[in-house]
Amino acid sequence: DDLPQDALLIARNMGPAELLDYDQSRLRAVVLEEGSATAHVTIVAKALRIPMLGRVERILERAEPGDPVIVDADTGFVFIRPGEDVEETFATSMAARNSMQAEFAALRSEPAITRDGVEISLNVNANLIFDMAHLGDAGADGVGLFRTEIPFLVQGDVPPVEQQAKLYSEVLARAHGRPVTFRTLDIGGDKAMPAFAQAASAEGNDIGAEENPAMGWRSLRIGLDRPALLRNQLRALLQATAGGDLKVMFPMVSEVAEFKAARKILDIEVARMTERGSQVPGRIDVGAMIEVPILAWQIDPLLKVADFVSIGSNDLLQFLFASDRGSPRIADRYDPLSPAGLNFLGQLVEQCDATQTPISLCGEMAGRPLDAMALVGLGFRTLSMAPSSIGPVKTMIRSLSAGDLKRYLDSLQDVAEHSLREKLREFAIDHGVMI
Ligand code: PEP
Ligand code: MG
Repeated sequence: DDLPQDALLIARNMGPAELLDYDQSRLRAVVLEEGSATAHVTIVAKALRIPMLGRVERILERAEPGDPVIVDADTGFVFIRPGEDVEETFATSMAARNSMQAEFAALRSEPAITRDGVEISLNVNANLIFDMAHLGDAGADGVGLFRTEIPFLVQGDVPPVEQQAKLYSEVLARAHGRPVTFRTLDIGGDKAMPAFAQAASAEGNDIGAEENPAMGWRSLRIGLDRPALLRNQLRALLQATAGGDLKVMFPMVSEVAEFKAARKILDIEVARMTERGSQVPGRIDVGAMIEVPILAWQIDPLLKVADFVSIGSNDLLQFLFASDRGSPRIADRYDPLSPAGLNFLGQLVEQCDATQTPISLCGEMAGRPLDAMALVGLGFRTLSMAPSSIGPVKTMIRSLSAGDLKRYLDSLQDVAEHSLREKLREFAIDHGVMI
């Protein structure tokens, strides 16, 4: 509570709710001994535009309270008690960075279109009302993923229908007509909500006691077991979008049957509202997140009942590679640009294209220019990312020929290396793609 101005926070690790407890206006950076790029605390820090660096060994031992510290979260360096030369170098690179930001800002109203005329829809991931301000700044098409659990994590509880509806209406008002895809609550895993966990534990569902919370009682599983929770949220979303369009998606769907059960709860709510003469949305699109690998083997039946799909690559890849997304020790164990990973994603695009079902990807990889380039090469036409990534990704797209890249990727079909990252980087350099 009593953070000094321009504070640097150093800790072994922390959860997203803990980070939100600090006065963000005073916090200039966070350095963790543990942590990883796709951990939720990192995602929240990014949303708050607080530079965060994880996996910095022994930082707690090395830094003393009051030490001046430079944190370069772009390159992953921490300078404790930097000399004047380091400070100067840093000031110069900050100036260069700011001018790059100005270039990205100039692209704001330019379309994300490749050199060979392929249009890509770039959307932002938003977690808090606060993020909505970045939608216009970034020049994005809409919100591809609104993580509804994050505002409630901040509050410490899931509020009743009216309060939820107010939040969603506010989000929509700030979107100024651009589409917003709301994701239903994804609590549990590393997004434990103390009040909810206590209530659950009183009923004998000890969330915190699970050995593998990421694969435990979380997300849609909770929603289906506690239908009142899901129903209230859907009711609030319907109220907030009455007369307009509602785009909603369910996280961590494992089976088509689960998706159908969730959708049925929504249908019942719509029928109930209609019966009562309340206004309902003019159009409702219901999507499934593909994060649990087995769902990828149920695409045909899924696409018969889902209006769109969105790939949550953070979770999907952690499960495909059996590699915890929050564990620093194994963070480099696999690369999202592995041939197998890309193959998997490419097949999903093909299957969705065959039935003209919209498919997007909203995991962290969509926001990294080189990874986003690979995704465009695989056929993705809609991506959703942190607002600060829109500029760099748009710059990459505008310098890319999607056709050339597709041919190149096709030629790599039989490569069985750990990662195609270096090959793709060379492609980008050879073809003047700005990554
Ligand atoms: C994902 O898993 O990729 C995703 C977008 O959801 P979250 O990061 O909130 O788990
Ligand atoms: Mg996820």
